Amino acid sequence: MATTLAATALPLDLRDYEEDLEEALRQPVRDTWDESAKFTGAVQAAAIGAVLVRALHTNLAEFAIGYVFREKIAKRGQTTLAQASKVSGKLAYFSDYDFLIEVNWETWRRLTGPQRVALIDHELCHFARGESDKGDVVKQLLGHDVEEFNAIVSRWGLWKGDLAIFGNHVRNAPQFDLFSLATEGEEEGRD
Ligand SMILES: [Zn+2]
Repeated sequence: MATTLAATALPLDLRDYEEDLEEALRQPVRDTWDESAKFTGAVQAAAIGAVLVRALHTNLAEFAIGYVFREKIAKRGQTTLAQASKVSGKLAYFSDYDFLIEVNWETWRRLTGPQRVALIDHELCHFARGESDKGDVVKQLLGHDVEEFNAIVSRWGLWKGDLAIFGNHVRNAPQFDLFSLATEGEEEGRD
């Protein structure tokens, strides 16, 4: 799978970061999975994430984000490309990370360069910086803007506000058609 970026397939906000992203995409990805490993470091995903935090997700600059590969990730029988979570509880006590992105190694290797960047951009959208009543910084995990069934949109169209807004974004979006992996949609709930 070609993992270079075509200039035409980069959103305007990222045009100045093309070289940085190309460099990130040159980071190695293992070709074989060590059967004894549950997780391995996702160096390439981390490098992409670092560029995206500088370019687009500056609100996350103060947080430590960990990137790991899992051999496969599936939820409710559907392949999931990645999963984002907040580090809390015991894990927060024992690690320095604030957020975690787990990436499906098997599907990652089949994604093009722009798809990989889009996926990490998506996962970073799940993270936010908030403030408590006392003014302390808190890390937040956000859900998707829209969740809906194809069948409902087919029958009822953009029947509620969030869907109507989403429809406007789709109409104004560049038509890159990055995701040709039709059956491997990234699934709900902070995935
Ligand atoms: Zn998601």
